[in-house]
Amino acid sequence: MLKAEQVGASFGSGKQFVEAIRDVSFELRQGETLAIVGPSGCGKSTLFNVIAGLLKPTRGHVEVAGIRVDDAAGHVGYMLQKDLLLPWRSVIDNVMLGLEVRGAARQTSRDIAMKLIRAYGLNGFENAKPATLSGGMRQRVAIMRTLAFDPQVILLDEPFSALDFQTRLLLQADVSRIIAENGKSAILVTHDIGEAIAMADRVLVLSARPATVRALHVINLPKAGRDPVALRTDAAFQAYFAKIWADLEMPAAAT
Ligand code: ADP
Ligand code: MG
Repeated sequence: MLKAEQVGASFGSGKQFVEAIRDVSFELRQGETLAIVGPSGCGKSTLFNVIAGLLKPTRGHVEVAGIRVDDAAGHVGYMLQKDLLLPWRSVIDNVMLGLEVRGAARQTSRDIAMKLIRAYGLNGFENAKPATLSGGMRQRVAIMRTLAFDPQVILLDEPFSALDFQTRLLLQADVSRIIAENGKSAILVTHDIGEAIAMADRVLVLSARPATVRALHVINLPKAGRDPVALRTDAAFQAYFAKIWADLEMPAAAT
């Protein structure tokens, strides 16, 4: 579905030179959610920007369905930490934004947006302005907007980190379900190990900057009905947590 090959990215030159990512390769399979975890500042958002086609890598490349992302605008839909809803637009107009930008007919866009709004529990709020919604509701509007234009891959960069703990756990379950119901493949970038285990089929662990691949774990927990709250006390969850924690703590490889 999506493939990153030996991706490297750096910024600046001379004294300002910062190497953010070094030789990162991975594959995202059809229908899979892959979590990418790493310590703060390791280069996760930089990698996210490369995958989204927003930043040109210094080395290597990313392909979506065999096409390089710099030529494949629109194949990926992304959702960021801040929901970035337009405050002057109503819920439905925010959901329709991506469709509008792509030139879809207004009535078609409205129908698609209303279907999502009904399906994901915001019926009755379609004309509300974002400021009147809770943080959790706003993030749900943001995921609907991402789904509306039917991208092949959904990218999430720390999508819940601005929310309180309880809302975060509820949304992890919601968004996992929405991704599964729509048959989407997704990449979740996060520093939250629990979130990665609760939502992903596989977890790629990155080192501190420059980000390199430390480990790849297959999460063998039932995907359907994986309840982020109940998981916390699950022995398998705790074992994955301990392993990933240990990966993150490893001293940097001598180079
Ligand atoms: P993370 O998302 O893992 O917290 P980032 O990818 O945002 O980390 O940043 C990784 C490193 O790259 C940081 O040291 C950051 O200062 C640097 N960096 C990110 N973007 C830029 C940029 N546009 N110019 C220069 N340095 C940058
Ligand atoms: Mg980041």
